[in-house]
Order: sequence, then C-alpha cells, then structure tokens
Amino acid sequence: MAIHNNEIRDILEKVADLLEIRGENPFRVRAYHEAARVVESMSEQIVRLVADNQDLTQYRGIGKDMAGKIREIVETGTLSQFEALRAEMPLTLLDMLQVPSLGPRKISLIYNKLGVTTLEELKDAAVQGKIAQLSGFGEKSQQNILDSLDRIEEAEESRMLWSDAEPFARALEKYIRKVEGVRQVRVAGSFRRGRETVGDLDILATCLRGYEEKLMTAFVVFEDIKQVLAHGRTKSSIVLRCGLQVDLRIVPQVSFGAALHYFTGSKAHNIAVRKLGTDLGYKINEYGVYQEEKRIAGKTEKSVYESVGLVYIEPELRENLGEIETAEDNRLPVLVKRSDIRGDLHAHTRRSDGHGSLEEMARAAKALGYEYLAITEHSQKVAMAGGLSEKQVRVHMENIDRVNAKLKGFCLLKAMEVDILADGSLDLADSVLRELDMAVCSVHYQQRLPMKKQTERIIRAMDNPNFDILGHPTARLINTRDPMEIDLEKIIEAAKERNVVVELNAQPDRLDLPHAYCKTAADLGVKIALSTDAHSMDNLGLIRNGIIAARRGWLTRDDIINTRPLSELRKLLRRG
Ligand SMILES: [Zn+2]
Ligand SMILES: [Zn+2]
Repeated sequence: MAIHNNEIRDILEKVADLLEIRGENPFRVRAYHEAARVVESMSEQIVRLVADNQDLTQYRGIGKDMAGKIREIVETGTLSQFEALRAEMPLTLLDMLQVPSLGPRKISLIYNKLGVTTLEELKDAAVQGKIAQLSGFGEKSQQNILDSLDRIEEAEESRMLWSDAEPFARALEKYIRKVEGVRQVRVAGSFRRGRETVGDLDILATCLRGYEEKLMTAFVVFEDIKQVLAHGRTKSSIVLRCGLQVDLRIVPQVSFGAALHYFTGSKAHNIAVRKLGTDLGYKINEYGVYQEEKRIAGKTEKSVYESVGLVYIEPELRENLGEIETAEDNRLPVLVKRSDIRGDLHAHTRRSDGHGSLEEMARAAKALGYEYLAITEHSQKVAMAGGLSEKQVRVHMENIDRVNAKLKGFCLLKAMEVDILADGSLDLADSVLRELDMAVCSVHYQQRLPMKKQTERIIRAMDNPNFDILGHPTARLINTRDPMEIDLEKIIEAAKERNVVVELNAQPDRLDLPHAYCKTAADLGVKIALSTDAHSMDNLGLIRNGIIAARRGWLTRDDIINTRPLSELRKLLRRG
C-alpha cells in the first residue's frame, strides 16, 4: 500500500519526539524535525520520487542519511529505528506534548519517576499531588497541568458546526465521485441528519468490482489531510487539517441502502427500526434485511423501511422522537423545502451592525427569488450594534419608502429588532412601533436571570400588542453560550394566546428555536418565522441552514409564515 507524505512526516516527527524524551543529542533530534518539515511542504508524493529513483538530497534539509531513512519508510512502511524506540517506550507519551508546559525533558522525568504513560495517568498523578513533588515541579505547575488537561478534554468533546463541516463534506463527495470506477457516494451520519454540530464525517461509496484499491488510494491523498489513521481495502480513516475525522467505507451495491440507513443513524432510530424487524422475524444490519439467510431488502433505504412496514423517513427526522410511530400510521409531515420560502423576516443593514445598504440587501433578496425582506435594525439600547432611537427609526422608515419606490415586484418591510428590556418593556415607544410593518423582539442583555424571572420578562414583553415575532428565543450560541434559563413551553403557549410568531433564527451557531421546540410550537399551532438574521448580502443564503433546522423540527410549509405571499403574511401577523 503506497504511503502518503503525511504518514512519512508523522513517523519522522514521532522519532524526533521520542529521541528527545530519551534525552538524545539535540542535533540529531533537530535533523528529524527538519526532515519532517521538508516532507510536509513537498508538493510531490515521495512514493513517486522514490519509484523514479530520484535523489532526495536535492531537497534542502534532507541529508544522505535521512534520505536513506525516508526510502526505508517508503519501502517497508515504517522505520526500524522507530520500531526500536516504540518497543522501548510507549507511544502514548507523545500525547503529553499537548500539554503546553510539558516538554520532552519533563515528560521523560514524569515517565521515569512515576511510570506515567498516558494523559489519564497524568491526570491521576496530578490529582494525587504526585507531580508537585517531582524536582522542577511545584503546586503551581501541577495546577497548570490540570488546567491544560481540562482544556484538552473540552477540545476533544467539542463538535464542529454543521455549516463549518459542510464545505469539507461537499469537497470530499465531489472528489470521490471523480475517482474512476466510483458509482454512488453519500455522506451519512449526523451530517446527513442535519444535526447542529458534527463529530466526524462518515462517507459511503459503491464502486465497480476491482476499483476498491484505487478509490482508497485516492482518498488517503485528499489535499486537506493532516493524518491518515487507517488505510484499508474497504475502510479508511483520515483526519483533515481542520481536525475533522473522515471515514470512507466501500459497500456492496446490494447493501448500499442498508449501509446508508445504518450509518446515518441515529442510534436510537436504528434500534427502533431493528426492533420492528425482530418482531417480524427479520435481522437488520448494515448489509441488508435478512429472513433466515436470505437478503430480502437493503439495496435502497426505502426497501429497508418498507420491509418493516414503514414509509420512507427523511434523515432529519431520524432521532426516535416519534417518527417511527408516525410513519407506521403514514402521517409523516411533508417537510418544508427551500423553494417554499418567499422572503426573509430578520436582516440588518449597515445602518445598525450589518454590511450592506438597503438597496443592496433588497437586490440580494430579490436574486434569491424572494418577494419581501424585513429590515430589522437594532433599537437604541443595543448601542454597540448601532441601535436606532425613535427619531432615527422614523428616518429609517422614510429611507425604506424611498428604496421601495424604486423596486418592482419586491418590497422591503419596515421593521425593527426591538430589544426586550430587563423589566419586560420594549426599547421603543408604542407610537413608533405602531407605524412599523412588524417588530421582531429579542433579548440581548441580562440573559442570566433566574428562570422564573426570565420567563416572566419575555411574556410581559409579549403583552405589548406591537410585539409580532419573538427573535432568537433562547439566545444560545452553539459551542459558545448556553441557552437562557427559560420555560420555553410556557413562552410558546403565551405566544399562542397572543398570536405571536416565534422565530427560528438560521445563523449556524444559533439555530434558535431548538428543533424539539419547533415541533412543540407547530403542534400547538404557533407559527414560525424562518429568518436568517442576515448581517450581509451573503448571509441571506443561510436560509439553507434554516431549512435543515426547520426540517429537524418537523416543520411544514404551513407552519412557516414566510412561505406566504406578502398580502397573506401581513394578515397572519398579530398587527394584521
Ligand atoms: Zn438579536
Ligand atoms: Zn438580529
């Protein structure tokens, strides 16, 4: 199996680190680090250079001795010196290099004196106070190590935003599809289900018989690779530079549907489907649906569902949150699509904290096929983001009128994103709020009130008849800020009573209303505004993310007000 430059670099890097931990001559250590750096920066594949019998010493930083070692790696897949070092001390010692305050010399001391070989053992030793007792360490450096270990754990747990993973998923799909012999390619996993965050990417492919090796060889040299974790005949794993792990599996054509179902998950959904199979005397796994030894379904996902008496279930719904029972009764909702959307109800221009002008935003929205766009600048309290005073709101409305006079077949709505103040009043006088086409009202400050107080604050604000839409209801920022402590169910009920619309904010780190509550709202008949909260023209395109979130929330076209033509939309709003 051909070895990739990145794997060669990894071996050289590890040898350097291991030699350093062992206390070797710094010049020797540096030679390996330097060679690793050269290999990393090379645009040619070393495998090819070696096959062409090229002289590797032509690269500055690779001496004659090192060239021989690199050849050895290419020819044998490893380096005898590396194997010897690995036999002498555990490779897990290298994990400790992630702790910024630990260099090779300190790691060697911890290893030799305490027998610590892994990050876990390091934590135990620090918790027990053993590190502080080593010479050259103290209480302070021990605490330092513990803090670093916490951060390392946190980083390992944090998942990438769906929208950050998407470009990699699409690029990989495209790349794999172009490999000779490939037939089908799909990204499965939580990415396909549209989860807000993605842990890793699971890609499935089918190819013509005999082309498996070609596909895997192409996969492990994808341009953005940091590390190749495994390179096999039907399964390979890589880590991209961004830290995302990607697994590629080649599955037989007849199993593609079963495999896609299996690897799309969720686990809870799969268990429920398998249980239905068991009740019928079938066995369901990633290769198909089996009755005794006979495969009775699995070529398509639809066939898997049909074998257990279900209609096809969209990936976004596969969380075992009622979709199985609903599919049994054939009552699954027809989920909203991008083409259903006729306008956007939350956008900023450069008048507050956005980037575009009114006209630019209007043109960009029109280009998306929209009929209307609500311009919702911030109100005065949000001074940091250029909030508007009452007087300025009147100018804002006049400016919109002026732009609207120039637009054909498109309308900018005179709106504001009104701050909900701590006491539940709104940040602008009723006299001016009344003149708007609509008001989106949101909490921006004092998000840490106790639950009862916070809930009351929002409901009190909703008592104002000029409150049309509740903006980003929980104020969460995924991976950064927890949602406010609120009784969201109670708030949704209050919205129902007052004919208030609840926003599903499509910003990739908001996706707020969270999906479980979208379903609660829809079940109660509370309407949703699917809005991008765009701060630039490009941002209007985030509606795609919003659509996925809406689908995860079981929302149909009927549940969302901005699927309606403008005249109908106006009637649906509270002030209409
Ligand atoms: Zn806001
Ligand atoms: Zn906003």
